Amino acid sequence: MANISNFRKNIAIDLGTASVLVYIRGKGVIINEPSVVAMDSYTGKILSVGKEAKKMLGRTPGNIRATRPMKDGVIADFNSTEKMLKYFIHKSIGKTMIRPNVVICVPSEITQVQRRAVMQASKLAGAYKTYLIEEPLAAAIGAGVDITDAGGNLVIDIGGGTTDVAVIALGGIIINKSLPIGGDECDTAITEYIKGKYNMIIGERTAEEIKINIASAYPREDDNLFEVKGRNLINGLPVHVFVTSTDISEAIRHPLDQIIRTVQEVLEKTPPELAADLYERGAVMTGGGCLVPGLDRKLESKIGIPVNIAEGPVTAVVRGTGKALSWIDKLDSSEMGEEGGRRRELEERERLRRSI
Ligand code: ADP
Ligand code: MG
Repeated sequence: MANISNFRKNIAIDLGTASVLVYIRGKGVIINEPSVVAMDSYTGKILSVGKEAKKMLGRTPGNIRATRPMKDGVIADFNSTEKMLKYFIHKSIGKTMIRPNVVICVPSEITQVQRRAVMQASKLAGAYKTYLIEEPLAAAIGAGVDITDAGGNLVIDIGGGTTDVAVIALGGIIINKSLPIGGDECDTAITEYIKGKYNMIIGERTAEEIKINIASAYPREDDNLFEVKGRNLINGLPVHVFVTSTDISEAIRHPLDQIIRTVQEVLEKTPPELAADLYERGAVMTGGGCLVPGLDRKLESKIGIPVNIAEGPVTAVVRGTGKALSWIDKLDSSEMGEEGGRRRELEERERLRRSI
């Protein structure tokens, strides 16, 4: 007899502070959009999600509010998160009556309450079953690290709102630290720098654009000029200036130093045997924030360990989360009675979380 679970889709979601990615096995990464929701503030109705909503950030008329529902890696606005998930789940699987199984990665340091909030939002958004896996494990799997290895591996994920540093061995997290600073803090630092140096106000998106175009962890020899448009702080009139990447490297030095400091702290606490492995194998970086040119070299020079950027650093976490999908197939086919199934589900979920 045909079993409904044969038709049930399994999808992996990276619910980030900056972007949401969705992966389906066999299809790859099918969604990569900003985690932004635009809402009518009078009616509470969602107007747009993702790319469309991001265009509205910072330029919305009075009645429209464009917000990021995730902050510091966790849900800051439950209602918008649920709506955003519903939109992306629907966009990924299209019209179907069969609800999908969903695997979502979450930061390793979040509380039980925050975990439950993610599970609940996913359920309300239309998931059949939801499984959570810890982000550093997902990042490592996606970066091609064999996480079941007894030797240690150092994984650094720099997202929009957070940086997660973890040492992984034998399928688990040995030590980790999460810093509420990531790529977005660099944008803020650029905004502040330009305000201080040129008396000029720029928007959030302009700051990110400057970063993506000319930021560098070191002052650059081939220093090129980049035109920046904004508003004069005193008289409010439109102005433009030219900034250099050396300016911007100065601007973002502080947040980058904080990230480097966090990696150093994790290394200081790593057990000696594992630390020796790390020196041999090097560290791997994932997340959009690691793409600032020269950050890998700067980090390397500060920690004395080779630092590599994962292949496809932005999609590594969701691809790693996607690999956990194979566990779900096994789980579905091994389910029997309702109670046994429930118990097994809990056990599997715990195993999934702990020991991929
Ligand atoms: P999250 O997991 O929090 O959703 P991402 O891994 O998508 O975050 O990373 C988003 C951050 O990466 C943002 O701060 C973004 O500005 C930054 N970023 C993306 N591309 C680049 C780039 N080419 N250079 C520098 N920063 C980048
Ligand atoms: Mg991320």
